[in-house]
Amino acid sequence: MPTPRLHPDTVEQVRQAADIVDVVAEHVVLRKQGRGFVGSCPFHDDKSPSFSVSPEKQFYYCFGCGAGGNVYKFLMELRKQSFAEVVLDLAQRYQVPVKTLAQEERQELQRQLSLKERLYEVMAIAGQFYAHALRQPSGHHALSYVEQKRGLSEETLQQFQLGYAPGGWQTLYTYLVQEKGIAVELVEQAGLIVPRQNQQGHYDRFRDRLMIPIHDIQSRTIALAAAPSPTKNPNTSTPPKPNFSIKVRFYLA
Ligand SMILES: [Zn+2]
Repeated sequence: MPTPRLHPDTVEQVRQAADIVDVVAEHVVLRKQGRGFVGSCPFHDDKSPSFSVSPEKQFYYCFGCGAGGNVYKFLMELRKQSFAEVVLDLAQRYQVPVKTLAQEERQELQRQLSLKERLYEVMAIAGQFYAHALRQPSGHHALSYVEQKRGLSEETLQQFQLGYAPGGWQTLYTYLVQEKGIAVELVEQAGLIVPRQNQQGHYDRFRDRLMIPIHDIQSRTIALAAAPSPTKNPNTSTPPKPNFSIKVRFYLA
């Protein structure tokens, strides 16, 4: 069985739980001397007791052969075991729960994956909102531009889920956060809203923009491309911005 990579917390907890005097005393007859203990060294042919253990420092040292270290080193050298084997053995004995790095990494990966999934979902809902908004009166100028000036058919618009970000400051915010109940932090992390400077609240990042969702191979919305609206929106004071085809920007979840 491959040795698991132990979490540093486990290594530290076991080291604190395992008393070196207890552990050494199972292998060496110890006698109290001053603030520590002495005995015959198990690592060399010791005629006089030259092996000392310090409970304060949780260290052992042999004046005869120079062997020394903490509880882990003692057991590794004595039993010819690996570091992980010793830690696991002591963890069991002192009932310390074992955390491995793989486990931690898996949890972190899971956390990141589920966050990503939720971001994709927010992007998808925003994409649907934008597609719907393109067919509303406020999106009329954008729709007529892509249909008449760009010659895109309704089929193409549907296929690429082309949309329109309305010109208001909180249109998407209101829909996602207030109507759909999506956490404001999540919408912000998706890059769809921006926190206001020097005051509370958020505003929509995309206003009066043509929106094109980008899908991955699993049909998940992984990004939104935004292009300035080509003609003046009668409902906002945003000036007309040409060059729709050039100024496409990508916002990745
Ligand atoms: Zn020794």
